[in-house]
Amino acid sequence: ERSFSTVNKNLDCVDDETCNDSKVRILQWNVLSQALGQNNDNFVCCPDEALEWRRRRYQILQEIIAYNPDIICLQEVDHFEFLKKTLNTQGYSGTFFPKPDSPCVYIQGNNGPDGCAIFYKTDKYDLIGLETKILEVWRVKSNQVAVLLVIRNKNTQEEMCIATTHLKARNGALLSTLRNEQGKDLLDFVSTHACGRPVILSGDFNAEPTEPIYNTVMNHETLGLASAYRNPTSNNQEPKYTTWKIREEGEVCHTIDYVFFSQDKFDVEAVLDMPSGEQIGEARVPSLRYPSDHFSLVCDLALKK
Ligand code: NDP
Ligand code: CA
Repeated sequence: ERSFSTVNKNLDCVDDETCNDSKVRILQWNVLSQALGQNNDNFVCCPDEALEWRRRRYQILQEIIAYNPDIICLQEVDHFEFLKKTLNTQGYSGTFFPKPDSPCVYIQGNNGPDGCAIFYKTDKYDLIGLETKILEVWRVKSNQVAVLLVIRNKNTQEEMCIATTHLKARNGALLSTLRNEQGKDLLDFVSTHACGRPVILSGDFNAEPTEPIYNTVMNHETLGLASAYRNPTSNNQEPKYTTWKIREEGEVCHTIDYVFFSQDKFDVEAVLDMPSGEQIGEARVPSLRYPSDHFSLVCDLALKK
């Protein structure tokens, strides 16, 4: 029911196979940790049934599979074994890295720590590198992490670097400084392992585009990153929201999730639009229709010739 906006048509594409090899579809999604969603978040308009794992797990899986992404970057994963098992049957292999002191483990009946995960299609790519990192702030380890894969296209042998993160949550000047420091460490980590390869860096940055971290990412000298959703079809603006929820304090509707990519290596072909307010409904998300309080971001990137 969500539709794609075409940003650029790849005119150089001659046949299906070269087309597929020059393209990469990435799905970026904070799936909402089961333990946090049910016990911590206090979504005041969300029916309890919507938060039951037995229901949500198939909705999460269905949404991922429906878009048929080549790469899947996820945050707040506290059921990696379920995703690994089910996505394996759909041709994906994946890696998970937990937060060192996940708030999930303090919740009764938890399913372990939450963390970040990346999956890739095994018929299209070989894994040639895997790195994980606890992000540091002023040289001290924080509670936020990143996962990075280097993958190689089986047909073209072209390599690329995919990284994902989930930065520190919550508002305030100090926390926005902290996110910026985590971001700097993340960018160092990505530059070190990308070694000039095309980069896709996605995640829940917990920061609106006005925060320092956004400019830190966009202005990185050697990585040369751009944001996929900020393109001519959106008047070069980020979406109005990537998450929309109602807590006791009120409604929270803003953009904090992004897909960044090396702008000299990729063109954006299409992005999946956020659902409209009408589609989302008055109670916002999560809901019986949307299993997370964040929406998935799906982008088609094409390697430049
Ligand atoms: P963060 O501030 O990064 O947030 C953790 C999670 O809370 C995120 O997934 C975030 O989701 C979610 N969140 C954000 N805003 C709210 C909100 N208003 N209400 C509910 N949930 C929200 O935390 P840290 O990872 O830094 O970890 C917290 C620390 O707290 C841990 O180090 C742990 O030691 C401690 N802790 C201790 C507990 C105890 O019982 N002793 C209990 C819980 C935590 P999103 O990113 O989507 O916004
Ligand atoms: Ca959350």
